[in-house]
Amino acid sequence: MALAHPEGRIETDEIFMGIALLASKLSNDKNCKVGACIVHNEKTIVGVGYNAMPDYRDSEFPFKKNKHNFLECKLTYVCHAELNAIVNKTCCNIRNSTIYVTRHPCNECAKLIVQFGIKSVVYKDNPHEGMNDVLAARRIFDTTGVTVRQYIPRN
Ligand SMILES: [Zn+2]
Repeated sequence: MALAHPEGRIETDEIFMGIALLASKLSNDKNCKVGACIVHNEKTIVGVGYNAMPDYRDSEFPFKKNKHNFLECKLTYVCHAELNAIVNKTCCNIRNSTIYVTRHPCNECAKLIVQFGIKSVVYKDNPHEGMNDVLAARRIFDTTGVTVRQYIPRN
């Protein structure tokens, strides 16, 4: 799907983050809904995803955190929005693309983003700012030259 680029970066930011936000609404996680939208050349959407359980079998896995029981903790199973957006990609090569994500990527997603050659991250919220998963993600992005910026809503 190609979109026109009528009024520059701010306009396209609104559209692509809007798509990531819409995708996040598909998540069945009541506490944490995240969406991601991968964009090529600042105009073509090449992947959309949201956090979900493996094979989207959301009713067959726990959706709660459980620090004391690894096998009953959602973190063990959940596939993050970035992972699903990459897996859902509509073209072979997403190198040099931008990923819009409603929440700052974790370190695991940062690895995926780098290994697939995504060059730019635009995030909306950062509830884990200063926490290890985000600090490690930043280290991965800084070391490998991935640019990261926060989405600033137009209004
Ligand atoms: Zn992640």
